[in-house]
Amino acid sequence: MKANLPSCMRAATSDDAGRFRDESRRSGTADCVAFPATEADIAAVLAFASGNALPVTPQGARTGITAGAVPHGGIAVDFSRMKRIAPAPPDPATGAPRLLAGPGATLAEVRAACPPGWFFSPDPTEPSASVGGMFACNASGALSYLYGPVRASVAAARILLEDGTPLDLVRGRDRLHGLALDLPGRPAPVVLPALPPRPRTKNAAGYYLEPDMDALDLFIGSEGTLGILADATLQLRPAPAVRWAVLAFPDGADPDATAAAVAALRDAFRAAGPGAPSARLAALEAFDARAMDFLRARTDDPVARSAPSGRAALYAEFHAPSPDATEAALLRASDVLAAAGTDPATALAADTPDQLARFKAFRHALPENVNALLDERRRTHPGIVKLGSDMAVPDDRLRDVLRLYRDGLAASGLEHVVFGHVGDNHLHINILPRDEADMAAGAALYRDFAGQIAAWGGSLSAEHGIGKAKTALLRQMYSAPALAAMSRIRDLLSPLRLLNPGNLGI
Ligand SMILES: Cc1cc2nc3c(=O)[nH]c(=O)nc-3n(C[C@H](O)[C@H](O)[C@H](O)COP(=O)(O)OP(=O)(O)OC[C@H]3O[C@@H](n4cnc5c(N)ncnc54)[C@H](O)[C@@H]3O)c2cc1C
Repeated sequence: MKANLPSCMRAATSDDAGRFRDESRRSGTADCVAFPATEADIAAVLAFASGNALPVTPQGARTGITAGAVPHGGIAVDFSRMKRIAPAPPDPATGAPRLLAGPGATLAEVRAACPPGWFFSPDPTEPSASVGGMFACNASGALSYLYGPVRASVAAARILLEDGTPLDLVRGRDRLHGLALDLPGRPAPVVLPALPPRPRTKNAAGYYLEPDMDALDLFIGSEGTLGILADATLQLRPAPAVRWAVLAFPDGADPDATAAAVAALRDAFRAAGPGAPSARLAALEAFDARAMDFLRARTDDPVARSAPSGRAALYAEFHAPSPDATEAALLRASDVLAAAGTDPATALAADTPDQLARFKAFRHALPENVNALLDERRRTHPGIVKLGSDMAVPDDRLRDVLRLYRDGLAASGLEHVVFGHVGDNHLHINILPRDEADMAAGAALYRDFAGQIAAWGGSLSAEHGIGKAKTALLRQMYSAPALAAMSRIRDLLSPLRLLNPGNLGI
């Protein structure tokens, strides 16, 4: 086999162990590692994989937290040589600029390549995340509250199917006909099986399929199981003239206080039309009182340290078209937050790039320090992995889910923090297991939460995807016929099932 390896590929060695893990802290193995620099290289890797029946695991920056990029044998494909970013023809309807980006380009590199006055809105917290990884997970993050997930920012993509067939998909041009998908070189379209309606929430669990939709959207969020992204055309948006943010501190012991403040802010800034605020609520994030204590104990983060103790925190970011729009919106936000029971005197505000960067560092510090703590604990308890949840509920269940979490976590006695995208009713619980017994108790608690949230019509994986770590949740969320339909979609597009075989578990 070795003599016939494509030139961009080599056998794996013991030095590669670090490549075979991601931020889930799970690890795997691979026989070979490939470093494609061109689309032809990817095609050569796929031909080799098919010829030798080897699984293919595409890898971006491996910041994913569901082990999606962790290989289980076969070929691990590293896209770090495919980072090219170039201007693409602008949006024909609006003239907005677009960028053509290779799968290995990072979010930070995409942001740096945006022309002045424009920005790429997806913000999955980790600036090192790659275009391929964000595309495969349909990543979102804080700003997806206003701008939507990655799907809303991809105008076109070039994808290689398992057999190396290139597929050019352009939003608005290449649509399904009902559920029929045209594939190059095939005499007839592939007719996909119908999937049940999706949850009324953010959702990154399983395939996205609706009749007559843009074919591109089936591949975005498919976790590398249906094709490999060779390049993506990214849609940019006008950068807001003014960005500012408020950090307010609701009662940490009462989840209803956070729910009330969230509902009031959403209502006040959701309205459109005459008299509506021209500043838009772009992100709405929450941190429970334990998360704030955790940050104060483990870091010298100045934002966490200036927060009043015993309180939760609510982060609201606003984007405004002009400085004039800002003052009225600031007053409105502070009235709304005061009416919902937070003390305006303790709130922190940011309206300069430096101040906003401090808030951003504060938000990033929490998941990063959770991971670091678990790394420390793993030295004495190697069986520990992060127990992070990623579930979302419909708007009318926010209060219920906050109570569900508070009561269940308190009764369990498990160490934990709760934080995340509360504007989308999408919070991450991170249980911090001290030993293997905590791991088992935490996993059981998540199963209970997941059962309730599925019954409320929520999503069990709203942005991180399923990967290999959350396959049980996909089974908990969808009926057997729905899972069979997803499995059939996979068979139709990846008949040898060589693309990311363990992902999704279907
Ligand atoms: C501290 C922290 C905070 C985070 N916060 C958020 C958040 O707020 N929102 C959010 O959505 N995510 C978040 N994440 C998760 C993660 O950053 C995102 O999922 C990101 O999109 C993964 O990108 P990546 O390049 O690291 O992908 P990887 O982890 O390398 O891969 C992810 C998946 O994409 C597939 N893939 C990679 N490249 C390709 C390709 N070219 N073609 C096909 N498939 C491919 C992989 O096989 C894998 O299944 C966070 C992670 C960390 C560590």
